[in-house]
Amino acid sequence: TSRHELDMLNQSLQQRVEEATAGLRDANLKLEELAKVDHLTQLANRRHFEDTMITLASRRENDSQQVCLLLLDIDQFKVINDQYGHAAGDAVLIQIGQILQHKLRNTDIAARYAGDEFVVLLRADLESGRQHAKKLRQTIDEHCFSYDGKSLHATVSIGLVSCEINEECRGIEDVLRRVDDAMYEAKHLGRNRIAEASLIAAD
Ligand code: GH3
Ligand code: MG
Repeated sequence: TSRHELDMLNQSLQQRVEEATAGLRDANLKLEELAKVDHLTQLANRRHFEDTMITLASRRENDSQQVCLLLLDIDQFKVINDQYGHAAGDAVLIQIGQILQHKLRNTDIAARYAGDEFVVLLRADLESGRQHAKKLRQTIDEHCFSYDGKSLHATVSIGLVSCEINEECRGIEDVLRRVDDAMYEAKHLGRNRIAEASLIAAD
């Protein structure tokens, strides 16, 4: 009998260990998912975006796939915060996140890159990337942002770079620097517009 009791005890212990292990595995998966998301906008966060870029660039089967990278920065966002308050600014960030999510296809990735900056990776050639960027700029310009019963207007300046995922995109830092330069060019040219990075990287 004691042998039988011991076996039963062992079985029940083993079952409890298995249940606890499954619980931990679920909790870990949830944590991993949470670590990829920007809390405010629910878009991917910067780290997840950069990890995705690195993974894509290292995949052999993606040979010669054309992609476009867009960097969007809200124009005069400090003024929105100052005029309407930080919570209104947050509402604008959330609504821009929703526009990006809504406008993109399953194969595209949008992320919140920093405070008022968003990045979008489009599986698209340069011409199609230009069309997408135009549409995004226009949609945001025409959107009636709402906060606390008030209507707010916001625009974005967009930098655009086109590259082949297995070649130029291997130097991800360089691609990001180029798209950042292009976005600043759009600011410099008067904001609420798109500027393209030159296809040849400057030394
Ligand atoms: P520019 O057109 O040159 O981009 O002008 P700007 O005022 O947008 O300047 P900048 O992009 O440098 O300012 C970003 C501002 O975004 C500064 C910071 O206070 C604000 N910000 C950053 N993160 C958040 C956030 O999570 N919520 C809110 N409400 N504001 C934020
Ligand atoms: Mg800004």
